[in-house]
Amino acid sequence: MHLRKRITITGGCGFLGSHLCDKLTAQGHAVICVDNCFTGTKRNISHLLNSLDFEFLRHDVTFPLYVETDEIYNMACPASPIHYQFDPVQTTKTSVHGAINMLGLAKRVKAKILQASTSEIYGDPEIHPQPENYWGRVNPIGLRSCYDEGKRCAETLFFDYHRQNHLKIKVARIFNTYGPRMHPNDGRVVSNFIVQALKGNPITIYGDGSQTRSFCYVDDLVDGLIRLMNSADSLTGPVNLGNPQEFTILELGEKILELVNSKSKLVFKQLPQDDPKQRKPDISLAESELKWKPSTTLDEGLKPTIAYFDDLLSSTTK
Ligand code: NAD
Ligand code: UDP
Repeated sequence: MHLRKRITITGGCGFLGSHLCDKLTAQGHAVICVDNCFTGTKRNISHLLNSLDFEFLRHDVTFPLYVETDEIYNMACPASPIHYQFDPVQTTKTSVHGAINMLGLAKRVKAKILQASTSEIYGDPEIHPQPENYWGRVNPIGLRSCYDEGKRCAETLFFDYHRQNHLKIKVARIFNTYGPRMHPNDGRVVSNFIVQALKGNPITIYGDGSQTRSFCYVDDLVDGLIRLMNSADSLTGPVNLGNPQEFTILELGEKILELVNSKSKLVFKQLPQDDPKQRKPDISLAESELKWKPSTTLDEGLKPTIAYFDDLLSSTTK
């Protein structure tokens, strides 16, 4: 039994945001989904639009927002390198002005606010796995900086509003997450490899494929975000949320080929600038404070993800 709350989700039409909309409306809360539909789409929330407990507002978070709300999940920001590098100035604005506007809203209505931060805070890390007290190694002037530094500044703003204005804040550092509703052309590794394998196109491994990532299934991640929002006020975070099972990109490519039963070949392409060599969350804080750890293995999570892309591709080629 949950107390009914008014919950605002910025970026609610996106991959993670739309799953949050689903879960929180299913729990009986009144949800306001705020999105400018830059990378997200109304299709992701179309099944909720008839619900009296659900409202969609087309709005850009770089402008002030006036709503009445008890909690805010600040998810708005393009998340894949292709999308966030499309208009890098707007990406930084979305993180920084977006955070200022949403923190201002939280201050006015005394709402609790959660920031969707990222493992990119750690940059190309020298410490492995990455604990929350590691300050990171981020290039401030590279192609990824608009995203990384925007998110780092957003964390600063969250903690300054907390210290200065006593806001109730929660900062989640999200590691690579995958699942149904990922954008098919966002260039992220899981979506790229599955779409390539399904179409029989070459699987594009950047570099030699020895770089590592740890992949968390979306249902596990959303559960972690909600647990963090509902945790004691003293737990501000940052808290790492991700799956500590680590794979090389080559292993991921081979696994997807096997699960799709695809004859695609692996091809090797140039590694993008500042591509982190390794990434794996230390989730001991989430385990002890939130009693959270992911329960979906990569094999289990890839199956519904492949089925989703398969449906999507067959509906667009009909
Ligand atoms: P996504 O691109 O699918 O969703 C982002 C949403 O924000 C989209 O619906 C987009 O239209 C919206 N948006 C972008 N700019 C906006 C603006 N100025 N005003 C209003 N809406 C705006 O990405 P996602 O994977 O769902 O990521 C959601 C959040 O989680 C992002 O903040 C991202 O940085 C963070 N995150 C995601 C991952 C991951 O692996 N998916 C990892 C780390 C952090
Ligand atoms: N990657 C790859 N082929 C692709 C897309 C990505 O080898 O078609 C690599 C990319 O270079 C990186 C890893 O996969 O090392 C994860 O990339 P993604 O963009 O998904 O996430 P991020 O780098 O932000 O963790």
